[in-house]
Amino acid sequence: MQKMVSTSENIKVAVRIRPFLSNENPMLAAWEVTSNTSIKSKKGDKQFSFDRLYGMNSTTQRIFDEIGEQVIWKAMDGYSGCIICYGQTTSGKTFTMCGNKQSNPGIIPLSIHNIFGYIEETPEREYLLRCSYVEIYNECINDLLNPSNVNLQVLEDRNRGTVIVNVTEEVCKTSDQVYSFLKIGDGHKRIASTNFNDKSSRSHCWFKIIIESKDRTEEDLLMGTVSLIDLAGSESVSSTENERVKEAKFINRSLLALGTVILRLSDTKNKTPIPYRESKLTRLLRPILQGEAKLVLITTSSPSSTAYDESLNSLKFAERAR
Ligand code: ADP
Ligand code: MG
Repeated sequence: MQKMVSTSENIKVAVRIRPFLSNENPMLAAWEVTSNTSIKSKKGDKQFSFDRLYGMNSTTQRIFDEIGEQVIWKAMDGYSGCIICYGQTTSGKTFTMCGNKQSNPGIIPLSIHNIFGYIEETPEREYLLRCSYVEIYNECINDLLNPSNVNLQVLEDRNRGTVIVNVTEEVCKTSDQVYSFLKIGDGHKRIASTNFNDKSSRSHCWFKIIIESKDRTEEDLLMGTVSLIDLAGSESVSSTENERVKEAKFINRSLLALGTVILRLSDTKNKTPIPYRESKLTRLLRPILQGEAKLVLITTSSPSSTAYDESLNSLKFAERAR
């Protein structure tokens, strides 16, 4: 049985401003975090508030503790949960999602750790975990756990919801097994591309953990899922200048559609159908965006005034999602 949560409380929007990188001028700060929920431009002409605002010194651990863990707990209890990172290339999406080595674990390793901790503390239930890992590139869904499995189809199944046909789902008994599949998938991202940096900024990566459990004494089967999504760089959607960008815009039809869907979800007066079918990403996210799941959107942003326009676009996107 897959449970449904009631809407409203189900979406949390956070913004994270990363620190300046060594090749950036720290004098060129564009934003000022004014509280743990608000931010303004240094010039003072723009102001935003969100459920949470994370400044340069905040750790991914803190973000996870404050807004991520509840997604995991809901999934352990049979709901769908989703954490998405949105932002321009180099704004910190992958850092937030995957982390770097041991010192700064990302949302994915923190989630895995949390899930197995939860299982250990719940001996009365029996768990079965599976994971899948796909990328959406050029509107093709490719299986990162089996690189010969490309261009997978999406099916709206009455009982199982939206499913990716024939996607590899690997059973994981230990956290080490989950990490090893994650590593395999990451490896395939690299092998499959001619230009890794270019591709990684244009593809969406979706790591999913499916959690089935049952009480050891009764027959109550629960199925929850955790989707952890590192989106393509948002810059290709918001810029409009030249031909190359136009091409990128087509490539990122999914990201564009996500923006439209999010805008439409907040526009309750517009009664025309919400265009979920416009892209692979929105088709797959439909059950989540419709409010059947717990969703956390983390918008990442550069601190620098040199990236001001893109950051502003990202903040506006995040604001629409609220
Ligand atoms: P994206 O995935 O959005 O393109 P990355 O996550 O690759 O961006 O981040 C770009 C660079 O900034 C990387 O070198 C990364 O290590 C660094 N970085 C991003 N966010 C942080 C952060 N919160 N703290 C420290 N370094 C960060
Ligand atoms: Mg990245």
